[in-house]
Amino acid sequence: MKPRAIRGMNDILPDVSGTWQHLEAVLEEIAESYGYREIRLPILEHTELFRRSIGEVTDIVEKEMYSFEDRNGESLTLRPEATAGMVRAGITNGLLHNQRQKLWTTGPMFRYEKPQKGRYRQFHQFDVEALGYAGPDIDAEMILMSARIWRALGISRLELEINSLGDAESRGHYREALVAHFSGVKNDLDQDSIRRLDQNPLRILDSKNPDMQPIVAAAPVMLDYLDDASRDHFETLRGLLDAAGATYRVNPRLVRGLDYYNRTVFEWVTDALGSQGAVCSGGRYDGLVEKLGGRPTPAIGWAMGIERFVALYEVCGGETAASRPDVYVAALGDAAEREAFALVERLRDELDGIRLELNLGGGSFKSQMKRADKSGAEYALLLGEKELAEAKAGLKPLRSQDEQVPVALDELARVLAEKLGRT
Ligand code: ATP
Ligand code: MG
Repeated sequence: MKPRAIRGMNDILPDVSGTWQHLEAVLEEIAESYGYREIRLPILEHTELFRRSIGEVTDIVEKEMYSFEDRNGESLTLRPEATAGMVRAGITNGLLHNQRQKLWTTGPMFRYEKPQKGRYRQFHQFDVEALGYAGPDIDAEMILMSARIWRALGISRLELEINSLGDAESRGHYREALVAHFSGVKNDLDQDSIRRLDQNPLRILDSKNPDMQPIVAAAPVMLDYLDDASRDHFETLRGLLDAAGATYRVNPRLVRGLDYYNRTVFEWVTDALGSQGAVCSGGRYDGLVEKLGGRPTPAIGWAMGIERFVALYEVCGGETAASRPDVYVAALGDAAEREAFALVERLRDELDGIRLELNLGGGSFKSQMKRADKSGAEYALLLGEKELAEAKAGLKPLRSQDEQVPVALDELARVLAEKLGRT
């Protein structure tokens, strides 16, 4: 019986992993250029960490976590997002006391969702977090950093939405207003929303149910309930974004799916990927470090969904960057094969990082040339008895009509460096 892959968990095949590598390299480079440093985190954390940080009445904690007991009876969970682990690491490693941290991390996340295009059970995020920064300057900088990523990759068709969730107190007032509003239309609420009405009415605004949209649209908006300090924070953020020429839309109903956010929240959304439109989402979570047992530490972060990011890059005409050899080396006959074997190792010594694929397992000239072509290589290097006798190899361009030329073996490194633009 053939093995089965797990539903919603994808293999990233070699034809697309080159594009992933390219995009990840751009993400890392831009994050590092803004002073973020990499932190690598475990994929498992104690279940309790996510319950406390993400919040009990959220889709993730209610129904999406992959939790299990380890052999010692401890409840562990495959991380559904990176922020909780990041904050946990900040606390347990003492990174936050009298320090500020700009950190990035990347890797797989796990949520038991209904798999569909752009929504998977194992997916990947690139995540940046700034801990110890009260903002709003960092809020603006972080948003501009994400905008720079789109520009660097020629990605358009994205819109920035921002909102403020205020502080705990003002959100409390807002919550009352929401409860009053939704209670008035209780008969029209769906099951999820009725349950949330008592426990977490803000989350009703995040409903994905189309039937709920008119009710959500008529709800009061948080911006009318903001406390003065949060209002100032939001105004300053807007001023900084304006000064930098960033365009955005204030979406007063943007609340985000996790509980820990306050003040600034934002999301980059696209209409180019069907219904999974959120590509990069973030926000401020000033209370989380303390809630998890650290000293009060303001913080903000965003996470990019890499699958959606790759898909959008392709929709916007981004080139796939499959990895290909520079040169495919074909050899005919025992002596030539032996010579070719030594030759490619010498070339690897001399030309740092050159991508050489040596024909392995023999084969006719014709079949070797077929493999050369299929490999996507720029050139084929041919070694037969005749070439061997003359201490030469035939260099054949595979992507142009140019003629094959003979090159002396001891000239090869120089000629290849020149042809491949490595001088
Ligand atoms: P959505 O509203 O689409 O469910 P979310 O609000 O749950 O997204 P976050 O928890 O903020 O998403 O995660 C940050 C980013 O990770 C999202 O903007 C999205 O690009 C991506 N993402 C979230 N869940 C998935 C998933 N199941 N599959 C693929 N990407 C995802
Ligand atoms: Mg979600």
